[in-house]
Amino acid sequence: MPEIKIDKEKCKNCMICVSVCPKKLIKPNTQHTNHAGNNYVEFEDKENQCLGCAMCAISCPDMAIYEVTK
Ligand code: SF4
Ligand code: SF4
Repeated sequence: MPEIKIDKEKCKNCMICVSVCPKKLIKPNTQHTNHAGNNYVEFEDKENQCLGCAMCAISCPDMAIYEVTK
């Protein structure tokens, strides 16, 4: 089952990964902030839809998505 990891402390909440994921599995989190005071995004895949395509990781300008397993 593919899974990605997001380092919330590196995330700047730019939403690029949210827009590129073909399955829309990365969602904004408006409830919490990291130490820098930014909201951050979260990966949620309750129905095992992640393709492991790594589009999210490749697109992140801050390399906050650091692991994609297939
Ligand atoms: S690996 Fe692909 S399908 Fe999975 S969360 Fe990232 S962009 Fe979406
Ligand atoms: S692309 Fe990177 S910095 Fe931008 S919202 Fe996604 S994880 Fe955060």
